[in-house]
Amino acid sequence: MITRFAPSPTGPLHLGHAYSALLAHDMARDAGGQFHLRIEDTDIDRCRPEWEALIFEDMKWLGLSWEQPVLRQSEHLEGYHAVLMGLADRGLVYPCSCSRSAIRAAMSAPQEGVPAPDVYPGTCRHRPMSDRRSGDALRLDMVKAIGEVGHMEFTETGPKHAGTHVLDPARLVAEIGDAVLGRKEIETVSYVLAAVIDDAGQGMSHIVRGEDLWQITFLQVLLQNLLDLPTPTYHHHRLVRDETGKRLAKRDDAKAIRTYRENGATPEDIRRMVGL
Ligand code: GLU
Repeated sequence: MITRFAPSPTGPLHLGHAYSALLAHDMARDAGGQFHLRIEDTDIDRCRPEWEALIFEDMKWLGLSWEQPVLRQSEHLEGYHAVLMGLADRGLVYPCSCSRSAIRAAMSAPQEGVPAPDVYPGTCRHRPMSDRRSGDALRLDMVKAIGEVGHMEFTETGPKHAGTHVLDPARLVAEIGDAVLGRKEIETVSYVLAAVIDDAGQGMSHIVRGEDLWQITFLQVLLQNLLDLPTPTYHHHRLVRDETGKRLAKRDDAKAIRTYRENGATPEDIRRMVGL
């Protein structure tokens, strides 16, 4: 078994991250496998070196060890970009200049056949790659993409959705639609694609992560099929919530591992708090 913890250094790790890292680590250890730490820092606007340094500190303090070398995604942008251009060469990607507000406006008059909110309405779908202007995002043409793949499925072992899941093309179109794979910065690919490339490149057998990433799995499995990459087994774990039942966010400094650490908690206390 090969697992990973793949945080983005955009804030301090909190109890939810600790649960994810400990669970992925323990599953690999119990199976005599490998556990990796991967730094997902493709979002250059939000990632900071000090948050990355804190990830290493917190992970060591938790008593975790991981395989070397650590993969830092910002060092592999050209490779991700090449994969994205490969999809573009196959006619599966188009440039999009819609702003968030333009997308919202295009979706504001609900009518028969219009996709559900949050699914891009396809305003730029007719545009060829040769029309790409600086500042454009790149989107997957979901309908064309589905036309290139056959039967798709994955196995989930987490508590909420355990079982085999077959991807339904109609739901991919209606619920995910033309996802953004490349962002405005010329060489930057979105998290979903970079993670798929690295999960395969690093030979991940099990993806252990929070239930908040459940929906994304369907897009990632589609990308694996498009790119001829193996589909790992997924394990989406419950989210650690605060006392009021809200899921923890990176800005909740009160639940940061560092805060517990500084207040004298032990790694065993953290394990107990997250229910391990
Ligand atoms: N980098 C993602 C995050 O911090 C996690 C990605 C994953 O586990 O697949 O939310």
